[in-house]
Amino acid sequence: MSATQTEKAPCPQCQTELTIELYETINTSMNPEVVARLMQGELFKYRCPGCGATGQAFYPVLYNDVAHKVMVQFTTTNDVNVAQQYIEEHDERKKQFDAMGFPMSDYRIVIDPNDLVEKFQIFDADFDDRVMEVVKVFYKMSWLEENKFYRNVIFRFAKGNGEPFFFVMDEQGNVLTRLRFDRDYYEMIKGTLRLNEIDSAVVNENWAREYLDQHIADFQSGDETNSETND
Ligand SMILES: [Zn+2]
Repeated sequence: MSATQTEKAPCPQCQTELTIELYETINTSMNPEVVARLMQGELFKYRCPGCGATGQAFYPVLYNDVAHKVMVQFTTTNDVNVAQQYIEEHDERKKQFDAMGFPMSDYRIVIDPNDLVEKFQIFDADFDDRVMEVVKVFYKMSWLEENKFYRNVIFRFAKGNGEPFFFVMDEQGNVLTRLRFDRDYYEMIKGTLRLNEIDSAVVNENWAREYLDQHIADFQSGDETNSETND
């Protein structure tokens, strides 16, 4: 059951009182409408019934994907202490569950609402986010190599309608292009990662880059990857 709260807040445009529904947990098997809003990146959006103004109201939420046995906590803050607290609470629960013989779902922490949506898309499409983040690093390196005008871009996985793809966006979030997602490449990376050695609640681009720094030799055997790094 997902605990729902409602909160009242004045519209920033016209001061009409808005009623905003807050979910503590979103469970894939129980709230299809809410899950759909999350998937479309609309979970936090509101529309004022008085003046029609729209905006976003962020709040912490736990997305629980029961089918894929993974939970994603969105923190709303980039305060590392808050993230650390969530992780410790999770570790505590995990210990209790393990002691009772129930293995607990995997756990992730995200601080960006776009990351929450992307995690949803990755898990819902039956992929592993650890593999996906590493795939994204390689896609991004080769894209930047071919598009030297850009110093940095953001890759976002999207499930699509059966044909997954990556959005390539500039740092302001404008979509520059879409790239086809290559399943064979994903499987190749998956086979190279030491997945059973990875147990991290934070799985993002920085995590993937650190992993690659530590395991670059795993990726160099068999091809002539040119691993020059500038940092
Ligand atoms: Zn209003």
